[in-house]
Amino acid sequence: MAAVSLPCMARRRMRDRDALSVERDIRGMKSFTVACLLAAGLLLPPGAAWSDPAKPPATVPLPPPQPPARPEGLLPPEPQVTPLPPERPAELATGAGKEIGKEIGKETEKKTEEPQPDTSSKAKEPPKDGAVALPAPPLPPERPPELSGEQALALTVSAPEDTACLRRLERLGARFEAMAPLRNGQCSAPRPLNVTALADGVTLEPAASLTCRAAEALARWTTEVQVAAEKQFGDQLKSLALGGTYVCRGQNHDTDAKLSEHSFANAIDVMGYGFAKRPSLKVTAATEGTPEAAFLASVRTGACGFFRTVLGPGSDAAHGNHLHLDLRERNAGHRLCQ
Ligand SMILES: [Zn+2]
Repeated sequence: MAAVSLPCMARRRMRDRDALSVERDIRGMKSFTVACLLAAGLLLPPGAAWSDPAKPPATVPLPPPQPPARPEGLLPPEPQVTPLPPERPAELATGAGKEIGKEIGKETEKKTEEPQPDTSSKAKEPPKDGAVALPAPPLPPERPPELSGEQALALTVSAPEDTACLRRLERLGARFEAMAPLRNGQCSAPRPLNVTALADGVTLEPAASLTCRAAEALARWTTEVQVAAEKQFGDQLKSLALGGTYVCRGQNHDTDAKLSEHSFANAIDVMGYGFAKRPSLKVTAATEGTPEAAFLASVRTGACGFFRTVLGPGSDAAHGNHLHLDLRERNAGHRLCQ
């Protein structure tokens, strides 16, 4: 608006000198003001003022205001100087540094061309002034002796402790002691027991080499045998005649057959029973209708509650003279009682 009014005011002063016609002057001022506004484009619709390229704007844009003067107290900052890195230690700038570089993996052919000082001893010396001492990499700990050689192999075949079974066997009144591991080819018993007697002083003749679980099953079954002896004979069981416990062989003494549970000290062959007063009784001595037959049938049936395999006279030719008892594991806990 100021740019528009400058020429208009000059024209107004010229007209002021004309004192003859005030009204004409006023009308002229009105029309002149309208003309000035029209020339400035303020009374035209937007976009129509400069539509004609032959009519440039009648005003000249003012230059932007000058920025304020910088105060004297604000001086330009001095250029910052980047600090230089510390000087490289002399030990690292010479051949010694090259050798240290080799120690950390940079093997070069220069090592073979020119002799270099022994840096292994140098690394152990205390660092000199400004020297960077690279610590020697620590060695791995030595392998424990029990994890090496034959001791390690022994660990792989040792069976876990069966403390609970041993405790139960003691409570059943059995007399036993631990044996050295048994091994013969594929036949083995890592922790066999030498069982000499069971509850109530019932002796095993001869002593049996058995796993703890097989001995426990035998001890529990023998308590039922004791009950049957008192019931059928009014006597006490005093001994069990055994045919064999740990024997490395195939089933039914067949060398081509699957290994018998006897090969793992997991089976017992009972040949007969000894009593306190009456004569001993063989497994084969069974005449129907006699107390002996009732006793033998009772203890044979009862064995199925403690063992997984029970075979005897009548099962097959191999078990005609003894009662075979073992703890062979079968699918779904199946038992073989014949
Ligand atoms: Zn057998």
